[in-house]
Amino acid sequence: MADCLFCGIAAGDVPATLVAESEAALAFMDIFPAVDGHVLVIPRAHHDDALGADREALAACIELAGEVGRAQETALGATGVTFLSCARPDGWQSVFHLHVHVLPRTAGDGLAIPWPVEAGDPERIASVAERLRAAR
Ligand SMILES: [Zn+2]
Repeated sequence: MADCLFCGIAAGDVPATLVAESEAALAFMDIFPAVDGHVLVIPRAHHDDALGADREALAACIELAGEVGRAQETALGATGVTFLSCARPDGWQSVFHLHVHVLPRTAGDGLAIPWPVEAGDPERIASVAERLRAAR
């Protein structure tokens, strides 16, 4: 897709520091790393986000993200990995080509869950679940 930064990386027209690739996906270093070793995984084909991507692109991304996460454990000493994919501006997406952040984690690395972890109202949870099931 013209004017898509990540399509440019996939085409080799925009420089990136690649760390892994497969037939349908590639992984490269994030130039705005949240932690050391922060990697982005993208499908080679353009998909705006995970909501619109086909099964093949999603599978290729999560498979390669898993490989990257295992490499982060082995090579960087990560003791955990956070996978994150944002969709749409209100979902925190800022580059509109599907991507999965793969963050190598260690205890005390300073990253935090951005929402308060509090028990929800069981009736509200059940009600929302019913709406989601009905919408599929
Ligand atoms: Zn693209």
